[in-house]
Amino acid sequence: MNADNTDYELLVVGSANADLVVGVERRPAPGETVLGSDLAVHPGGKGGNQAVAAARLGARTALLARVGDDAHGVLLLDAQRAAGVDTVGVLVGGAPTGVALITVDPSGDNSIVVSPGANARLTPEDIRAAGSLLSAARVVSSQLEIPLDTVAEVVRTLRPGTRFVLNPSPPAPLPAEVLAACDPLVVNEHEARVILGEEAGEAPEEWARGLLALGPRSVVITLGAEGALTADGTDVVRVPSPKVDAVDTTGAGDAFTAALGWRLGLGEDLPTAAAYAVRVGAAAVTRKGAQGSYPTASELADTVPEARSR
Ligand code: ADP
Repeated sequence: MNADNTDYELLVVGSANADLVVGVERRPAPGETVLGSDLAVHPGGKGGNQAVAAARLGARTALLARVGDDAHGVLLLDAQRAAGVDTVGVLVGGAPTGVALITVDPSGDNSIVVSPGANARLTPEDIRAAGSLLSAARVVSSQLEIPLDTVAEVVRTLRPGTRFVLNPSPPAPLPAEVLAACDPLVVNEHEARVILGEEAGEAPEEWARGLLALGPRSVVITLGAEGALTADGTDVVRVPSPKVDAVDTTGAGDAFTAALGWRLGLGEDLPTAAAYAVRVGAAAVTRKGAQGSYPTASELADTVPEARSR
């Protein structure tokens, strides 16, 4: 597809990782070796997750990311294409594909080592070179598993009128120019507390006020099974989640954010887009895994019908 004449409903600029998962009875002590289960390899990374989530829902989606010239890179590209994501913006080479080395113990607790690899080599120069892709997008969504300088360059490269959505994960101090572009800044409870520090307070409404004071145009706070809260300087709105049997919450926030950004680009207001996004997040937690748990539009209608979110 040619980026010059394509109107992407969502462009995700972010990370793509191969998640390498091994089950263990217990973790090895320093110097020790333990035997684990067969290796499972899953496509992941917050950027890759967001792009797959949006594309499966039917959004015209592209991913701007970097993977290595290796088998994991091929796996990640295949997963994106299978979901319907345009991978014209996925750069290849410069470092091994990012991986997350994950051990899971019998109680379900994870220990994770992330090697950012190619994600750390997605540079501001790469963003400048992708100007046509950025200018073809209605909404651009980023996270912080790529360098902060690169995210700042995304903000500087945005065409006027393009909406920017940021999930600052993993949380880090954000420059004023990045904060000012966020519409919205999307955080979970942990990210809100890290960004606000000791001043955070206890109520999500307080976090929203504190975050808005840092400069974003709007804020969305995800509250797990409780749903989400939206704040735009005028209104603070609680958006309850539909009740579902949660099986695995991995990647639910990424699906939520992708759905939110897409719907905002279609012209929905913040609470309406968030009401759609909590349905997508709820559907994602009913199945195991991250990208493998994301619903298509028809699966969403079956699993979490619209009326149940009211
Ligand atoms: P993160 O996945 O980043 O930790 P949250 O736990 O807040 O963020 O979850 C993100 C979204 O996923 C929530 O806003 C909600 O829509 C959905 N979600 C998460 N957990 C549940 C749950 N137990 N039941 C229903 N929806 C959930």
